[in-house]
Amino acid sequence: MFSTLFESEKIPDELLMESFLGYVSKDERELINTAIKDDDLNDSQEKEWLDFLKRFDCRTIPKKEDRQTIILELAHKEMVQIAQFIIDSWRKPFKENLANRDAFSSMESLEEIYQNARPTVKRVLNLIRSEPTISAAEGINRLSKSRSILKLRSDDKWLQNYNRQERERLELQEKLGRRLDGSVEVSEWCNCGNCDITLLTNNSECYCCFEQEGCEEAMNREEVIQDLKAEGVQNAKCVTQHPGFNPVCLQKWSLKMAADRYKTKDKSKYSQTSTENSFLRSISYREFTRLIYGLLGNRRIPLPACAYIAIRNTFPIMEKEGQFTGYSDDSD
Ligand SMILES: [Zn+2]
Ligand SMILES: [Zn+2]
Repeated sequence: MFSTLFESEKIPDELLMESFLGYVSKDERELINTAIKDDDLNDSQEKEWLDFLKRFDCRTIPKKEDRQTIILELAHKEMVQIAQFIIDSWRKPFKENLANRDAFSSMESLEEIYQNARPTVKRVLNLIRSEPTISAAEGINRLSKSRSILKLRSDDKWLQNYNRQERERLELQEKLGRRLDGSVEVSEWCNCGNCDITLLTNNSECYCCFEQEGCEEAMNREEVIQDLKAEGVQNAKCVTQHPGFNPVCLQKWSLKMAADRYKTKDKSKYSQTSTENSFLRSISYREFTRLIYGLLGNRRIPLPACAYIAIRNTFPIMEKEGQFTGYSDDSD
């Protein structure tokens, strides 16, 4: 920028040095400062110093008093000469459009622009300060702003996509939150007749089995339909009527035997660490996922509310279990 508006030779040494120090790595920056200030380098510094000169194609080893001059020459080469093509390309548009404006008229005023635009921690924090009262849309807006300040370059498409997904995610969380706090009646979102919010603890649990594709699919499997028919059930309305649900998810001994299949986050075997009920529930959630989605392992998919209720009614949450957080907490 300086070189395009002013002649390259006019760039002050301090500015050139500062730009160069900002351009090299942190270790190299320290090395340069030491080399200029201290007369004597220790053995390892001497070696690094030679490596550094070699890296910038400097073939002579400068005398101690010439180190600063050499660094400035290297800086001029890296920051101005190598960038000459870019500087040349921008010179004309910059001179024609910017040079006559006050802010671009002197090196001092130009430097001021950079100083004011520098993303200090305080400035960035001011921009990303979160206020819980703002709406989802305003949150997205601010996030987009802070992204541009942090100079995270991304093309518009990526940003649009990211914004859309983030907006959808927040809208869904808001919608589920209204279910959990009761501001939306259960009857408005439950079609199976077995959902209820009394035992739910977390937004992600507020789905009806009707809303989960996997549940519907599992209930429409031929052998499920046949088994239900044999029991005299036509058109089952809820996933908790699945013929496997009771024996697989609600029977203490089948859960105890199933525990061996699962590993905890740290890859150790699943074992009872809290109360027996809490242990049985966590196995039951995993067994439900296996029964309905056919997935084994620790991949967690939130269960529908009706299934949580059936499981928590069978293995009630005890007071001594402490803070109960529901889905997303690995143990429950
Ligand atoms: Zn339901
Ligand atoms: Zn249901």
